Amino acid sequence: MFFCCGSCGTGIAHRDKLAASFTSPDDPGIKIHHFDEIKNVVIGGPSTEVAALSQDMVVAADINCVTCNNLLGWKFLHFNSIPIETINQIVLVPAELKLWNGTEMVDATTI
Ligand SMILES: [Zn+2]
Repeated sequence: MFFCCGSCGTGIAHRDKLAASFTSPDDPGIKIHHFDEIKNVVIGGPSTEVAALSQDMVVAADINCVTCNNLLGWKFLHFNSIPIETINQIVLVPAELKLWNGTEMVDATTI
């Protein structure tokens, strides 16, 4: 099983690379997946949308699909101004993903 871009289906991350999943402390309606490793993405400049996710996560770069440029998530560079090299830095929004279960594309928010 692997996660794909919800817009174009490009493969983004193997299911095994999903390290954790949590709900935003600032908005219970926002669920976030942590990944150890992703592919087929472009990591861009500082994000302007992260403030909507959590005010604690202050420095982040946008992660976009390499094929269709859909915004999939963010790579966090600092957490509360403390470098977080030792923990997972890549978070993707499951609502922007689909999960290929080997047979068909399914909702990635239920993982
Ligand atoms: Zn895409």
